[in-house]
Amino acid sequence: MEASAIRLQGLRKSFGETTAVAGVDLEIRDGEFFSMLGPSGSGKTTVLRLVAGFETPTEGRIELAGQDVTDRAPFERDVHTVFQDYALFPHMTVEQNVAYSLKVRKVPKAERLVRARRALADVRLDGFGKRRPAQLSGGQRQRVALARALVGRPRVLLLDEPLGALDLKLREQMQVELKALQREVGITFVFVTHDQQEALAISDRVAVFQQGRVEQVGTPAEIYERPATPFVASFVGTSNLLAGEAAEHVVGTPGTYSVRPEKIRLLKESAVPGDPGHATATGTVAEVVYLGDTTRFLVDLDAGGRLTVLQQNLENTAEDVAAYRGTRVRLQWHHRHTVQVPSPADSLH
Ligand code: ATP
Repeated sequence: MEASAIRLQGLRKSFGETTAVAGVDLEIRDGEFFSMLGPSGSGKTTVLRLVAGFETPTEGRIELAGQDVTDRAPFERDVHTVFQDYALFPHMTVEQNVAYSLKVRKVPKAERLVRARRALADVRLDGFGKRRPAQLSGGQRQRVALARALVGRPRVLLLDEPLGALDLKLREQMQVELKALQREVGITFVFVTHDQQEALAISDRVAVFQQGRVEQVGTPAEIYERPATPFVASFVGTSNLLAGEAAEHVVGTPGTYSVRPEKIRLLKESAVPGDPGHATATGTVAEVVYLGDTTRFLVDLDAGGRLTVLQQNLENTAEDVAAYRGTRVRLQWHHRHTVQVPSPADSLH
């Protein structure tokens, strides 16, 4: 069997009183686009820095391609890190920036140039080699940082919020490019982000972090459709949990349930409840948020609790949807979209 690209076993890291990483076990496959997703302070960056060798674990082991590298220095690990601020050398040209690591490794000049140009072509920056970083846009600088990482053909690329400094449009464009690039070069990418949509859009698999632990590992669809904990249900997508009496009343059995906002239909209160395959609940529209292509309705349920409903504005105008505020409605969704999640008490570690 082929060894995993990265294997983390019982990884812990404390900084004085703070436990940044509280026992992480992960296997990242060769050639995978793997994301570490979580809120600020959940330990993602520390895990990345441990893999790169910039930090030493308090406990646990790190394997790269089947080799224990826990005690090895960063330069002895076949990984390369791309930071959010790109860390380009301002006084060097783009080509010199990209070729720098080859120069350090004493690769002959002619070969350095060929490889730097190929890496720049990989990120679609042919012809930019003679410019300096200051003469580039943010997106172009990001690509130079990627070319610099790719030029040495590491087995693993570690990316710490690499798109964080870009505006939304450019960020979305770079997500598509990054994914395509990864497929093309076949290198394992480990990508840190706190943006759930970015993680869903770009990854083969995602690990969701909270307080230094991994709550769930899965494909974007698994994470979104089958959240394993209430935290995952609320962090990945909109928090839409039914618990306590509301759950008992609407679902019929006690527990904690998640239902995604786009799965819910908003009907008139008088609408006849759907066939037995559907869950239904009545309530009052507390808030209407018009988002252009969609509208978000916050509905206070008669059974207690509040659900968010997301509807496409197929026919409705902004005025139409605003008129819903304060009205009585019936919500309905197919039972298969009611997902039971362990109650917060069960998931306490
Ligand atoms: P962000 O998205 O904000 O970068 P993160 O999930 O990457 O957050 P980490 O940067 O790994 O989180 O930090 C996890 C915890 O460890 C935080 O509470 C942080 O303050 C703490 N921490 C990280 N590095 C150090 C350090 N060098 N010294 C002390 N505490 C640290």
